[in-house]
Amino acid sequence: MTNTAINELIRQLSGYVLQPGDPNYESAIAIDNGRIQLRPRLIIRPLVVEDVLTGYNFAVANNLPFNIKGGGHSAAGYCLNDNGVVIDMRHLNKISFNKKKESITAQMGVIWKDLYQFMLDTGTGLIPVGGGCPTVAPPGFMQGGGYSFVSRSYGMSVDSLLAIQIVTPDGQLRHIDTESSSKEDQDIFWAIRGGGGGNWGIIVEMEMRVHKPFSEKMLVGQIRYPLESVEDVLGYYNEWVETIPNAMTAYGFIGNQPDPLDATKNVKTIGLTPVFNGEWAEGMDLLKGLLKIAPINTDLRNMTLPEWEFYNGYITLVGSRSAYMRSLIIPKGGMNNKVAKVIKEYMDMAPSPASFAVWTLIGGAIEEKAPDETAYFFRQARFIPEVKSIWDQDKPGDTLANVEWAYSFFEAWRVAGNAVGAYVNYIDPLLHDWPKMYYGDNYERLLKIKKDVDPKNLFNFQQSVGSPFNPPPPPLTDLSPLNRTQVVPKV
Ligand SMILES: Cc1cc2nc3c(=O)[nH]c(=O)nc-3n(C[C@H](O)[C@H](O)[C@H](O)COP(=O)(O)OP(=O)(O)OC[C@H]3O[C@@H](n4cnc5c(N)ncnc54)[C@H](O)[C@@H]3O)c2cc1C
Repeated sequence: MTNTAINELIRQLSGYVLQPGDPNYESAIAIDNGRIQLRPRLIIRPLVVEDVLTGYNFAVANNLPFNIKGGGHSAAGYCLNDNGVVIDMRHLNKISFNKKKESITAQMGVIWKDLYQFMLDTGTGLIPVGGGCPTVAPPGFMQGGGYSFVSRSYGMSVDSLLAIQIVTPDGQLRHIDTESSSKEDQDIFWAIRGGGGGNWGIIVEMEMRVHKPFSEKMLVGQIRYPLESVEDVLGYYNEWVETIPNAMTAYGFIGNQPDPLDATKNVKTIGLTPVFNGEWAEGMDLLKGLLKIAPINTDLRNMTLPEWEFYNGYITLVGSRSAYMRSLIIPKGGMNNKVAKVIKEYMDMAPSPASFAVWTLIGGAIEEKAPDETAYFFRQARFIPEVKSIWDQDKPGDTLANVEWAYSFFEAWRVAGNAVGAYVNYIDPLLHDWPKMYYGDNYERLLKIKKDVDPKNLFNFQQSVGSPFNPPPPPLTDLSPLNRTQVVPKV
């Protein structure tokens, strides 16, 4: 790529181009996981939709690796690359509301926070099915399926997706919705609903349904127990989740928290985060069994969901420290006694006090669609656990111990909980057999669609659909996949 070509690109764009040394370059490559240190040659920030096409055509014509950056939460850094082109959508952030259809249309530079605030400002009380963390962005999130505190009420986030505008690998800007008649458009619409970000094109805009909560405010909060109670808590919880209505969810948290008796100290806890999409009294009644298992701290509030997301949603951010993440998808009954023992054993030997594990309760309305109705496959499962091993960015020597801990913790949990898969939104370069783990039986159709819509495999990265990359099976022997985004020959 010559300077003349770059100058010509700059001339054609309404938006910006950032290069190493430019004032905003370093902040543009800083993503949530501080372990990822990748330096693209050019970052293109479109200001108008045509810029997306210009940027894409430039990358293809110059045969450069390119990636798309939304909110920058990819655990593996697949929104960046070394020496290639990144199309960073952040300035494309228009939002509009269609009151009659109860839908919002947003350009893909928005993050969930923007959509929550936008909907609060409409005064309608309607909410999108968005992420718990306000800084995550819809395009990455929704292409992995996207679970929300209200997914048991309304389905995965993609179940509310009505239409997209997308630049497809052939360089066309297409509008696709549920009524699109072309088979290829229907295939793309199926694939982007769970088939993983960065594989199918550059999504420029999404229209999604917004929902009326069952009551204006929700019962939300935290119930924390000492880690020693893990067997009692999970013993009850594993059965309780099969008895509750779809309006109730309770995610889990396992990690250090300030000691309620002495805030200068931390205690190891197992906590639950209930969110009830309904009236306070009914929610409290559903929680009464959990409150009997002697919590060390209970903090329950009555808030709108966006208020809760603004209040609670930042706690699982890595926030520029170094991190390695791994996930699982667990069937009904999977929070069993064996899992409780694994949790206790591994949390007691965590090399870093900042590391934690969380899990999401799924089921409910998610199960109403068949596994092959959209690319998001694991609709019958019950829990999505995720471990975040976190250590200081300035201590690279701590990497091995922290990665090994998270890896073996989740290998043990995988066996104990009879895991059926892993969550593509916590994409993990060390995951053996990742196509099956992320996409289950839907992978074959995804592969076929990929060959049809992207025959030159222009949208490729280490774990893109069709990539031959497969890290070795356990035990962990090779950490090098963590340090790259592209496939290298003979992996
Ligand atoms: C703190 C935290 C909380 C989270 N909470 C949840 C949660 O509640 N529920 C849940 O389901 N997930 C959750 N996630 C996971 C999150 O959904 C994924 O990390 C998601 O991929 C992030 O999307 P992003 O756009 O922010 O990140 P990015 O890193 O920008 O993008 C992720 C992937 O999508 C691609 N992509 C980005 N923009 C586009 C686009 N416009 N068109 C096509 N491809 C694109 C990128 O190239 C990359 O491969 C959470 C993650 C974090 C870090």
